[in-house]
Amino acid sequence: MEKRPHLDIVLCAPRGFCAGVDRAIQIVELALEKYGAPVYVRHAIVHNKYVVEGLKAKGAVFVEELDEIPETESPVVFSAHGVPKSVPADARSRNMFFLDATCPLVSKVHVEAQRHFEEGHEIVLIGHEGHPEVVGTMGQLPPGAVTLIETVEDANRFVPKNPDTLAFVTQTTLSVDDTREIVAALKARFPAINGPHKEDICYATTNRQEAIKAVAPMVEAMIVVGSPNSSNSQRLVEVALRAGCRIATLVDRASEIDWSVYGDIKSLGVSAGASAPESLVVEVLDAFAARYDVKVETKTTAEERIAFNIPKVLRTLETASGR
Ligand code: SF4
Repeated sequence: MEKRPHLDIVLCAPRGFCAGVDRAIQIVELALEKYGAPVYVRHAIVHNKYVVEGLKAKGAVFVEELDEIPETESPVVFSAHGVPKSVPADARSRNMFFLDATCPLVSKVHVEAQRHFEEGHEIVLIGHEGHPEVVGTMGQLPPGAVTLIETVEDANRFVPKNPDTLAFVTQTTLSVDDTREIVAALKARFPAINGPHKEDICYATTNRQEAIKAVAPMVEAMIVVGSPNSSNSQRLVEVALRAGCRIATLVDRASEIDWSVYGDIKSLGVSAGASAPESLVVEVLDAFAARYDVKVETKTTAEERIAFNIPKVLRTLETASGR
């Protein structure tokens, strides 16, 4: 048998599921258990193809908008990314039984934006246009109340109505370094701007980026397990490249690995976005172990002990008729 080349694998920790993703998936699973199929889910509950397919197989029906759902007594779950205020209002007007799986850390940003608005601030949201979290956060306030800023150039071009009443909030899954630069550009132009102590980037995004930064300079290539529509996973690939790793790729599944990229590398870093299950990381490790003689070690840069409560209705034994 041909001798396999040696490969040192460094696993980033923390990686993979965060508390908000774990809670959102649990909400759909418990709703299926308690009320039976179908359980409607507005938008991909979390941005991972494998998770969505798994829930579909159990009876979840994914839609993009509520008007795709027929009149029903079945539960309707809102995804972890959060929704504009018009969505629960619409669900109420249609007498829908809805469960909100918005991550509590996204809800916190919604509350912050609302507070700034009530205090008469003009609000800037740092985030990526079109991302459902951005749509949800902007949709907490009337049209025109929030200006989206995506880049330092946007921050330099921005013309506020009144520079003395500005406040900013951010998307939770941004690049920590890019956001720091955008905030610095805003603060340089508008020193009185109000904002969170640092930014609203969540603990999970921050910790996964820190772990990648520690590992990327030590290895010849990095693999991030995650789906292309996952913002935090995409940021991990960028962070790895910026930290000096020559090759950094995002893969949904082991079957997608382009083996021509790795050739005779001697070291590899592995991480996973906040919406990617650990089983897919194991699948990737197994695929490398089939081709290389691997030695796996873990580099831990933070410990995470955060967990979020699930909605009370799913923690009780009430039935659908008794809700
Ligand atoms: S990445 Fe952060 S904000 Fe998004 S679901 Fe996870 S913990 Fe919540």
